[in-house]
Amino acid sequence: MTFADLGLSDQLLRAVDESGYSEPTPIQRGAIPSVLMGRDLIGIAQTGTGKTASFVLPMIDILAHGRSRALMPRSLILEPTRELAAQVSENFEKYGKYNKLSMALLIGGVQMGDQVKALEKGVDVLIATPGRLMDLFQRGKILLNGCELLVIDEADRMLDMGFIPDIEEICSKLPKSRQTLLFSATMPPPIQKLAAKFLNEPKRIEVARPATANVNI
Ligand code: AMP
Repeated sequence: MTFADLGLSDQLLRAVDESGYSEPTPIQRGAIPSVLMGRDLIGIAQTGTGKTASFVLPMIDILAHGRSRALMPRSLILEPTRELAAQVSENFEKYGKYNKLSMALLIGGVQMGDQVKALEKGVDVLIATPGRLMDLFQRGKILLNGCELLVIDEADRMLDMGFIPDIEEICSKLPKSRQTLLFSATMPPPIQKLAAKFLNEPKRIEVARPATANVNI
């Protein structure tokens, strides 16, 4: 199977090709067509399986339609750490180079001024850690009711870090009609509960741990 078989646009296929990837990984094969069709998804996959591209690629095609509005991001990706959030934003830059999407990274340890300026102009993709997002929301700097696509990445790490109450609160501020994608390496009971509460008839995809030889692909 090739990336072209997954239903991605020509612009994206070109960016993927230039990244040097010739074949989609199992999580990409399982996730991309469902996400493009608008379905909710539970992806049980670890880092190293290509899971980031499995949500970034279809998101770029979904967001290529429609326009951003001030203070109302169109999509939200929640990451447990600043480092992961920064990596996801690099993926958007790499795969989105032929799509003009605007992005804001809301992470702790960075001055809020520039983040707020980006939000005021309107962004297609907001990539955030839960703490900083809640902080900006409580200051009235951000509206979440335009977020029709939500990604909760590394959910089991969010649990370990005590972020589940924040995530529940964030979910309750997003429109009910949204599309939600949840990724986790494991599915302990609190994550199953979160998925049951906030996802709607999700497709479930589980992939094996990457072989040691492929961990650094
Ligand atoms: P991730 O699981 O998202 O952290 O990705 C792990 C690594 O695999 C990253 O360095 C990606 O650049 C790389 N990668 C993602 N998709 C593919 C693919 N289809 N073929 C080869 N490498 C990939």
